[in-house]
Formats: sequence, structure tokens, C-alpha cells
Amino acid sequence: MSVETQKETLGFQTEVKQMLHLMIHSMYSNKEIFLRELISNASDATDKLRFEALAKPELLEGGAELKIRVSFDKKANTLTLEDNGIGMSREEAIAHLGTIAKSGTSDFLKNLSGDQKKDSHLIGQFGVGFYSAFIVADKVDVFSRRAGLTAAEGVHWSSQGEGDFEVATIEKAERGSRIVLHLKKGEDEFADGWRLRNIIKKYSDHIALPIELPKEHQGEEADKPAEPEWETVNRASALWTRPRNEIKDEEYQEFYKHVAHDFDNPLTWSHNKVEGKLEYTSLLYVPGRAPFDLYQRDASKGLKLYVQRVFIMDQADEFLPLYLRFIKGVIDSNDLSLNISREILQKDPVIDSMKSALTKRVLDMLEKQAKNDPEQYQAFWKNFGQVLKEGPAEDFANKEKIAGLLRFASTSSEAGDQSVALADYIARMKEGQDKIYYLSGESYAQVKNSPHLEVFRKKGIEVLLLTDRIDEWLMSYLTEFDGKHFVDVARGDLDLGKLDSEEDKQAQEEVAKAKEGLVERLKTALGEQVAEVRVSHRLTDSPAILAIGEQDLGLQMRQILEASGQKVPESKPIFEFNPNHPLIEKLDAEPDEERFADLSHILFDQAALAAGDSLKDPAAYVQRLNKLLVELSA
Ligand code: ADP
Ligand code: MG
Repeated sequence: MSVETQKETLGFQTEVKQMLHLMIHSMYSNKEIFLRELISNASDATDKLRFEALAKPELLEGGAELKIRVSFDKKANTLTLEDNGIGMSREEAIAHLGTIAKSGTSDFLKNLSGDQKKDSHLIGQFGVGFYSAFIVADKVDVFSRRAGLTAAEGVHWSSQGEGDFEVATIEKAERGSRIVLHLKKGEDEFADGWRLRNIIKKYSDHIALPIELPKEHQGEEADKPAEPEWETVNRASALWTRPRNEIKDEEYQEFYKHVAHDFDNPLTWSHNKVEGKLEYTSLLYVPGRAPFDLYQRDASKGLKLYVQRVFIMDQADEFLPLYLRFIKGVIDSNDLSLNISREILQKDPVIDSMKSALTKRVLDMLEKQAKNDPEQYQAFWKNFGQVLKEGPAEDFANKEKIAGLLRFASTSSEAGDQSVALADYIARMKEGQDKIYYLSGESYAQVKNSPHLEVFRKKGIEVLLLTDRIDEWLMSYLTEFDGKHFVDVARGDLDLGKLDSEEDKQAQEEVAKAKEGLVERLKTALGEQVAEVRVSHRLTDSPAILAIGEQDLGLQMRQILEASGQKVPESKPIFEFNPNHPLIEKLDAEPDEERFADLSHILFDQAALAAGDSLKDPAAYVQRLNKLLVELSA
């Protein structure tokens, strides 16, 4: 045992304590994954060393053969992992093994329900990493020394996984980390060569560097050699460099968990080798679920970049547009220089052409998924649909392709399910229909009964129902699909084109003529509140409706802007009335101008309410309505 100096005891960050507690109590069903996590960290550490050594070869200290060794001691009931990667300094050990650096950790922990089964899944999503050692160990010792520091600057980190940990400075001759797990009583199955070999084959076969176990000497337990012979148990070649047809699905899945730091399987993946002017290999995954920080600005995004098999950087986000930020995976380029930096990445024209090829690859992969397995695609849509909706605004060149991947609720879909593709909609269009109709609003419950849909219901025309916050903004970029224009049914003077027969149109004109007088009276009564008054041909059941001016902001956008404290340009609605409604007939026949005005205002306010808007003067509405009610009962 070496000498320990500057020993101190430090408390874990609160989040770590919570995490440790939850993990120890909820990961009991799949304990063996701790080994995958520790091996994954060792592999990351050797990647980092190889990268830093590009600029500073002396970091390798003469030992360039990178590997991981796993050994065990049955008597002491310990399991040891040793790597010769980058290692940690004392400060790094404190920071990396005492806190959780991930953004949104406390938000995440707040979301835990207390139901262990559900939470274990969530924790899986979060990625438990190093702390998973405490699932099987009641004490963990980490001996480490960062490459480039002197042997005297080693660190010993130790904890029992409760409130605190100890650190001390030690002498450590070899760079890298040695992690000793003191297995809990009953976890001695992990101090077993056969068991360990199986776990490594199962989870870590794809790890690109050798993972070694001591060679078993059958039946000679007593006279084991003092220095064991080592044997590589994994395949030890970078997965993406192997031919596709030789890689099993399970291998792709395990590799995904390693690169994406995810516990669950990916939804699908695409593995391609590109040759020709540019040479690179890409392995792109669609995760099975959205990470909890998908909408956080500093959430991790992008791919792992390798150049000629050497790890260069994590989160290389220059290779995909932002709306595909959920894609995980690896790119290995033969063209980029080994000392490429983020700044150069941003300017290199090679990156641009890779980006557009990779974008297309992802969109194709999603298209294929949607076609081959619509049910799974629906699951994808639930997780990532909102992000994909950012696409048409960001990526003009692929607008049509992205639009094809969007899914909507419609008057034909069940209970607000976003399951209608634009192609489905077009296939169901009525004869004479050449527009894609949509209505946007706050919620499905609000739009599904909107008076704006009345004429469409009557004619059996499908209308898309857009109720996500981003939708109105999306529709300002999405003007057509497959040559058909989108039409907001709440906007402007609804023209149903060929869907209205010649007779319909003639009848409409006649009614408009006949009601000119009523239009004038309403204009006077409603005054400044309206931009226009006209006879409606979108209503069958409701007396009146408010339409948005062709160029005006929609309600959703207005509400978003108002909520963010911005000044919203003033716009007045168009008041449309249903000439056949008994209330309108009554109104038309009302000789008393004051009662006429009251009734008009009530109709106007009701139309605003039905559209999901709030009233400018709710008290006036109530007063007018009460006045009418009193007269009624008198
Ligand atoms: P993650 O791997 O997602 O970053 P972990 O909890 O698995 O999270 O690990 C936390 C951090 O501890 C790592 O990011 C790394 O900085 C450090 N670390 C863990 N294991 C090692 C190791 N074997 N060598 C060097 N650093 C390590
Ligand atoms: Mg890790």
C-alpha cells in the first residue's frame, strides 16, 4: 500500500446522493450493466488519450498499446478494472466522480415519480455511468493518474456510495485508472471468470480496444502463477469498420448504448461506407425515446467524430442540422486532418457536403421506417415529431421530404392522434379538391368542435387539426406539398374552389345581395371591433364566426408573442354570420337599434370565445347577456 497524503473527505453533490440512492434501490433486475458502464468509461478514457497524444505524443509515456484489464479475487470478493487511458488528476476525480455535470439533472430528478419500476427506466435514460458500480459494490476504490502528470500526482478516490467520498494523493507509476469494486455480500457471482467473460461478450464485444481477462488454469486454483497470463475476450475492432452483413443486430444495439449513453435500444440505424471523392463511414441511430433534455439549449447533440479510426471529438454538431439533433452515432472520415478543430469544422466545405449527404441519409432512414413499420414510426413521432417540425424552416432544400415525414391529427383521425401523413390526406381528397385544409388552435378539444369546420363536415372534407405550439409557425414555412397549397380554414374569405358547385356560388351571391342591409347595420353596431362584416358560407349550425385577415397573425402566434411580452401588431377579425340561423333571422327583424347592438355584441363575443380567444371586456358581455335573460323571463 502506498503512502497517502492530503487526505480529505468531501460530500457528494445532492443530485449524486439522490441518484445513488435511487440506483441502488431500483436497478436490481439488471445488475450486470455496471460492467458495461465501467468498460465504456475506460474506452472513452483511451479515446481521449489517443486524441490528446496526437498533439503531445509524450503523453503515451512509451506505452501506446491501449487496453482494459478485468480481474477478480474470489477470496477478497473484489473485481478490478484497469485501463491505461487518460486517467484523472485529483481535481478531476473530485469533479467527475462527485458531481453530475449533465445539464438539467435537477429537473430530471424532480420528474422521478417514486415508483421504482418507472423510475428505473428513467434513470436508464439518464445514463447512470460510473455510479452504477454501487449497484453491486458497497465500496469502490479508484486509483488514477492523469497522463502527463508525475507519478507522485496520483489520486485515490474511495466511497461507500452514501453521503461522501474520500480523496488522497498517492504515488501511481502507470497512467490511467484502476477501479476496485468491493462486492456486496451475495454479489460474488461477479468475481467469476466465466460470468465476466459472458457479460463482456454480451455488452462490450464492440469496444474497439482489447478487454483482457486472466487466462483460466483449469483445476489448478492453488498454484496460479503470480503474474497471470492475459487473454483478450472481445472482438476488439471498431464496429463501424466491419462489413454490414457481418454485424448482428444485437451488436449494433450494444454499440448504440455505448455511443449514445442510453440504456434502451435504438429504434433503427443506418450504416454506410462512402467511397469516391469523399471517403467516410457513418453509423447513424434513431434513439428509441427522447432524452429528457431534448429541448434544453445546452443538451448534448451531434455525432462522435473519428478521423481514420482515431477519436477526435464528441458532439460534433456540424454534421447534421439542428432539427435532427436527436440522431446519435459515429462518423469516421478519411479526408479530414487529424488535428481538425471545431473552428475549422465550421468553415470546411468538405463538412458542408458531408452534412447534406448525412441529412439525406437520416431522412431516407426515417422514410423507410415510416413505410416499413408505421407503428414504430408513430412511436418515433411521439418522441421527436416536435423537433422534426423545426425542419421546414431550417432546411429549405429538404422541405418537401421533411413535410412527407410529418404527422398530423385531422378530422379523420382518432381522438387527436397525430397519425395522418400528408400523402394519406391527399389520397383521401374529394373530387375537385386541390387544397390541403387545416385549422390551428390551442388544443384538440378546442378545435375539434370549431364552427370553422361546419362546412367541411357537411361536405365530408378532411381538415388537419394543428394544436402544437409550433404549428402556426411551421405553417408559415410550409406553403405547399405535392403541388397542393395549404389553406387555413379560419383565415380570409374561404374559397372552396371546385368544391362549391355553380349553383352553390350563385346562391351565395344572391344571399349576399339580400343581406346587404343587415351587413350595414352590423358594421355600424360593431364599429371599430371588426375589419369587415360579411355573409358566411362556412357555417351550418353556428350563428356567427370570426375569421382572421389573410395577412394577420393567427391566434396561436399572437398568444405566444403576448406571453413573451412582445408587442403584437393590432389586427381586427372579420365577422361572418350565418344568414339561415334563427338568431340571425331574429336579429335581422329587430327594429330596436339598442337591442340590435346588444345582440350583435353578444354574437361577436361568443364567436371570439368559440375560437379560443379571450374577451376584451368580459364584464360588458355578461351585462348584455343578463339584460337579455331578464327580458326573456319578464
Ligand atoms: P459519462 O461517461 O456519461 O461522462 P460517467 O458517470 O460514466 O458519465 O463518468 C463520469 C466521468 O468520470 C467521465 O466523464 C470521466 O470524466 C470520468 N471517468 C470515469 N471513468 C474514468 C476512467 N476509467 N478514466 C478516466 N476518467 C474516467
Ligand atoms: Mg460513462
